[in-house]
Amino acid sequence: MTNTADEEVLDVLILGAGFGGLHSLHRLREEGLKVLAIEAAPDTGGAWYWNRYPGARCDVESLAYCYTFSPILDAEWKWTERYAGRDEICRYLQWVADRLDLRKDIRFNSRLTKAAFDKASGLWEFETENGAHYRARHFLSSPGPISAPIMPNIPGLDTFRGEVIHTARWPETYPDFAGKRVGIIGTGSSGTQVIPIVAEQCGHMTVFIRTPNFHAPARNRPLTQNDYDWWEQNRDLTRDRLQNCLRWGGGDLMLDDSINDAMFRKASEFTDEERREIYESRWECGGGVVGWAFCDAMIDKDVNEEAANFLRSKIKTIVNDPDVAETLTPKGFAYGTKRCTVGTDFYETFNRDNVDLIDVKTSPIERFTETGAIVDGREIPLDFLICASGFDALTGALTVIDVRGEDGRSLAEVWGNGPHTYLGISVQGFPNLYMIGGPGSPSVLTNVVMTNEMQVDWIADLICYTEKNGYKRCETTAEAQDTWTQHVNDLVKGNLWETADSWYVGSNVPGKPRVILAYVGGYGTYKARCTEDREQGYPGFRFS
Ligand code: NAP
Repeated sequence: MTNTADEEVLDVLILGAGFGGLHSLHRLREEGLKVLAIEAAPDTGGAWYWNRYPGARCDVESLAYCYTFSPILDAEWKWTERYAGRDEICRYLQWVADRLDLRKDIRFNSRLTKAAFDKASGLWEFETENGAHYRARHFLSSPGPISAPIMPNIPGLDTFRGEVIHTARWPETYPDFAGKRVGIIGTGSSGTQVIPIVAEQCGHMTVFIRTPNFHAPARNRPLTQNDYDWWEQNRDLTRDRLQNCLRWGGGDLMLDDSINDAMFRKASEFTDEERREIYESRWECGGGVVGWAFCDAMIDKDVNEEAANFLRSKIKTIVNDPDVAETLTPKGFAYGTKRCTVGTDFYETFNRDNVDLIDVKTSPIERFTETGAIVDGREIPLDFLICASGFDALTGALTVIDVRGEDGRSLAEVWGNGPHTYLGISVQGFPNLYMIGGPGSPSVLTNVVMTNEMQVDWIADLICYTEKNGYKRCETTAEAQDTWTQHVNDLVKGNLWETADSWYVGSNVPGKPRVILAYVGGYGTYKARCTEDREQGYPGFRFS
């Protein structure tokens, strides 16, 4: 397909064929709308398609990291591991696309380069890298909140003659690391997963660490018949719990109820000994919410510090060299304000003879040469450099595209001082544009599949409301947007959330304004706020 614009106007164009995009396509098609999804990758998967680095694995348990909207999908799919690996998640989404017959309405290999709202026609006009054009009344954007990779900005990197690989752009042909010298920049979620695996495969690995993060073991394992039986009996209950808990991540499904329930109570309701046991149980169980044991973990500085100290204390028990353990110990920011990483054998890897750790805060990489990295005036020879250096999160997925609203200004310009949105879904001046996982929504701090589902349904209801009432335009008001944006920012003022630099606040991207990008008020509060807006007839929007 090269050009559809002249022939037809779509009701909705969806950007992305990951979790949000596929569900949107299904739901809006069921509503009888003419919908098309475009996807840059050759298949479904979204962010998971691109993150094919070894070790890529979800940090939310697979039983809870899947759609809930379809009893058919529930009945027919079986996850094989506690935490699904990237390949299995991609297989799941491919299967969903087949099972719901979605592929006929998806154009793969279609990277969106331009989207502009034409005031005269009231239509969105789209252009893709391969020259296709589309027009649609509504633009539903679901490109994934963490999908625009960034590279480290270090002098000489372009002169390095070895292979440079970003984890989110892993080559299709697996690199041959045998006997090779590998450098790796980044010890976030991606780095902590890829390091143990490549360390086993390569000759020598140098890990360049800048900010050690809180880390917990995943304790991944195959799911058993007992797990399936338990899930069958507890699925509805667990999903209710998920829907009603303010924040809920991985690591909980396999915990005793008594430990899970503590999460709804304050730490002060427990004795020192009880709290210690709860942290130990969580550590043994594994998962990123080890430290999120009580409801005030992200509110009370002392509670947070206790959780942080617990996690810090574990490092020395695993890492043999005390200096290395110290370099790996997170300091100066609160637990949870940078995403806790989850993996297998991350700390253990630093006991290997072929792995070195360099603290680039004290010994920065001065520059790259053709053959390696210069640190403290000496060259570390390298054959490969793996960059697990992160993403321009939440805003980057849309600002890398030329998206222009009704007055011709781009989202990149409009968000120049930080993103302004209503509910993380709508932007003033960009009529009929809706974002899944946008800035100002809680998606990345929650089980993202769950929040996506909620947003898909909410946006679909809004589109249907617009259509059924014969409106041509639906856009948020300046007042609603300002109030919501202020609320999102106020939630982090003067509290623990301000302690860390990370992609949550955009500080990982040079020049990006430092503002909180995600709604930290919790899934339950967010959902209630969205529901209220819908039930009151969408007072945050203007229809015409
Ligand atoms: P990230 O969390 O932003 O980590 C990037 C890492 O690169 C940080 O350690 C950062 O150090 C380092 N870095 C960047 N530029 C550097 C430089 N010039 N010199 C030295 N170090 C540099 O990115 P990520 O690990 O790709 O993860 C991003 C998010 O994606 C995660 O938080 C998570 O939400 C999601 N994700 C999830 C999974 C999963 O489900 N298991 C897996 C992968 C990713 P600083 O901290 O000092 O900036």
